[in-house]
Amino acid sequence: ENNRWAGILHAGKRDEAEQTIFDKIVAKSIPSQVVFEDDKVLVFKDINPQAPTHLLVIPKRRETLSQLRFATAEHEGILGHMLAVVAKVASEEGLGDYRLVVNDGRGAGQEVFHLHMHVLAGRPLTWPPG
Ligand code: 5GP
Repeated sequence: ENNRWAGILHAGKRDEAEQTIFDKIVAKSIPSQVVFEDDKVLVFKDINPQAPTHLLVIPKRRETLSQLRFATAEHEGILGHMLAVVAKVASEEGLGDYRLVVNDGRGAGQEVFHLHMHVLAGRPLTWPPG
């Protein structure tokens, strides 16, 4: 089952060959607390939450990007869908005010090179961020 996923991911237009821990989370070979999923995206709880609610929104499939800077017109569908899912989950989970974050690059705090959006809520969030 895991090999099947690896094949699918590598057959896609991924900009970076290396898999990340998020591929294993998508494949369910390592567990996560899933809040929402459909055929395109997975939303799950961050293992090291920075707010009372800290969710990660990731694409499941071959549209996957290692980081946002490599997005092209062909990614508009998945990127728009991710934002629509954020709005739906925020509403359904009753998050109230929340912050949506994409860390693009190590200098911006990115550690996992599989595109993801952070959704943070449940405490006052100051600006500018650290
Ligand atoms: P980044 O720093 O790349 O923007 O965010 C990566 C996020 O993934 C971090 O907030 C980190 O806590 C989370 N993370 C890393 N490994 C795991 C894991 O195995 N499970 C879950 N649920 N979150 C993870």
